Amino acid sequence: MIVIKSEEEKMKMKESNRIVALVLKEIEKLIKPGVKTIELDEFAEKLIKKEGAIPGFKGYQGFPATLCVSINEEIVHGIPSERKLKEGDIVSIDVGTIKDGFYGDGARTYAVGHVDEKGLKLMETTKKALEKGIEKAIPGNRISDISHSIQTYVESQGFSVVRQFVGHGIGRNLHEDPQIPNYGEPGRGPVIKEGMALAIEPMVCEGNWEAEILNDGWTAVCKDGSRAAHYEHTIFINAEGPEILTVV
Ligand code: MG
Repeated sequence: MIVIKSEEEKMKMKESNRIVALVLKEIEKLIKPGVKTIELDEFAEKLIKKEGAIPGFKGYQGFPATLCVSINEEIVHGIPSERKLKEGDIVSIDVGTIKDGFYGDGARTYAVGHVDEKGLKLMETTKKALEKGIEKAIPGNRISDISHSIQTYVESQGFSVVRQFVGHGIGRNLHEDPQIPNYGEPGRGPVIKEGMALAIEPMVCEGNWEAEILNDGWTAVCKDGSRAAHYEHTIFINAEGPEILTVV
């Protein structure tokens, strides 16, 4: 588990995560019917390099691209391809960066053109669940206080949280301890301490939470074919509470 003690290391984490947020912001302009997901990937890779960083996911455990692009029933880890976005799709984009040895990680879901009301509610619920989780990320709380807060909110809105994938500590490695599930009883797991860097990332299914991996070995989908949304921020734990690093 990483505990960042120096201001210099914290600044490096901030910079890597700023680039993640920049990509997520700039890519929004490209999200429209007809765009190929590989085009989004090429755009992101260019921008990351222009900012002096390198893609954090490309080559990670063999993942072939800069972005994870997951459409509709795809939850996470979708591989960019010649597939075109369609009117009414929801598309989750997850991006990682490395700069000066430190990782950035963040994600959000976008509407492609006009999306139906339930799809928009799914997106809004997942975004808000992330905020609810971050509110609990204060020194002295325990990791599962974040988990419980996310699950309770998501289920109150009639959706379900994915169990198979979890948030994580982050720093010199993309995935560090502790794991941060998006479900569970409060008051369990490691105590949250000043200096921790955490990637909190609710993944929410419209129907049942059970997930499966497609034959490409990467793409995770909701088993019942319902849609999924995914929002992620990397945060830093200050003495007075959480600070979101994935911002521009
Ligand atoms: Mg992550």
